[in-house]
Amino acid sequence: MRVSGPRAVAVAAALIGRAALDDRRMTFGRARDPATGERLDEVLVVAMRGPRSYTGEDVAEVHGHGGSVNLMRLLRAALALGARPAEPGEFTRRAFLSGRLDLARAEAVADVIAAASERALRAAHGALAGAVGARVAAARADAVALLAEVEASIDFPEEDLDFLPAEVVAARAEVVAAAAAALAATYATGRALRSGIEIAIVGPPNVGKSSLLTALVGEERAIGAAEPGTTRDYVEARVVWDGVPVTLIDTAGERAAEGEPGGTIERRGVELGRARAARADVVLAVREAGADAPPVGERGLVVWNKIDLRAAPAGGLGVSALTGAGLAELRRAVLARVLGEAGEGSEEVLVSSERQKALLDEATAAARRAADAARAGRPAELVAADLREAAARLGAITGEEVGEDVLRALFSRFCIGK
Ligand code: GDP
Repeated sequence: MRVSGPRAVAVAAALIGRAALDDRRMTFGRARDPATGERLDEVLVVAMRGPRSYTGEDVAEVHGHGGSVNLMRLLRAALALGARPAEPGEFTRRAFLSGRLDLARAEAVADVIAAASERALRAAHGALAGAVGARVAAARADAVALLAEVEASIDFPEEDLDFLPAEVVAARAEVVAAAAAALAATYATGRALRSGIEIAIVGPPNVGKSSLLTALVGEERAIGAAEPGTTRDYVEARVVWDGVPVTLIDTAGERAAEGEPGGTIERRGVELGRARAARADVVLAVREAGADAPPVGERGLVVWNKIDLRAAPAGGLGVSALTGAGLAELRRAVLARVLGEAGEGSEEVLVSSERQKALLDEATAAARRAADAARAGRPAELVAADLREAAARLGAITGEEVGEDVLRALFSRFCIGK
């Protein structure tokens, strides 16, 4: 249990009947109910006085024996002593407000906790260490420096200063735009690592959908896999490909198209399967090699199964769920489709927050507008306005210029106690 704020140490000390606590030293004690004196738990208590604490404020932690009822009683005792329950993400929010973390790092805390693979965790730790924030701050510094030069030409037009030529302003604004765009381009991978991707396997009966799912899962244990072809809604399996959490979904989706479904339950399963496929990041449309090619949308990939019997069309993705041929290529093709080019690499600086991605896109657009305006010989005021916007958007990523509404939305994603 963690308490933060000016009275945090007093609350924790009172819980074990002490007047004071040493700083950064574990103290053993018996926590008691402040109202009844009833013994609650044997605990270890530690005080970490600010500003060298997670939140920057005085923080105290009480380590009990775990167990939800036991901890709930300790929590109630702390509340009776004057604490109040934390809101989701409140500790990290306080850390941000007291300047312990910039906003990009605060968001990375949530990613560290949610990381579902080692690669996702490494990227989140990189962001927590400030890798994303440093790249953003560098681009913002470039934008601000350029803005200062452009504004000088507005404020002191008569002075005989050496103003930057328009093409230099344009080129430097393009550098800002390129830096923001490069970071924004990492979002596809960052999002996939953070949230994982969903792959729906669809196709007519007997083309080998469930065999393909089983083969793709391979040695990795299928979670939630069950008998296919029953009245189940769909079969799901979770695997990790190249650090990306992947959910494979074998839907009953196209049975309806084949006019097959029987009872109500089956039809409902088909509908659920369809809805699931509609939300998937990639749809694998499975056909037997030799059949006609199905039409697919932009999320679709045609997979020709049973190439142990017949060859796939030239250039097509051929696999055999039976022998395992072509499965590695299929995995690669799926990841390339979702992640784009930036799929490889270990020291990754990845943007995983939708908020950051949107701000980077806006900064890119604003910096490009500034470059265009400069090149077209527009008034310096217009160039400056676009540069100011680019700098503001970049600043919002690390929290230099954000409003209360943004903070509320951002920290509400956290779990309580972080
Ligand atoms: P689904 O109805 O699309 O899920 O198809 P199944 O996975 O149940 O497979 C239908 C039949 O095709 C089964 O008898 C499988 O053993 C067979 N099958 C699946 N994949 C392959 C393959 O790659 N090669 C061969 N020869 N048979 C396959």
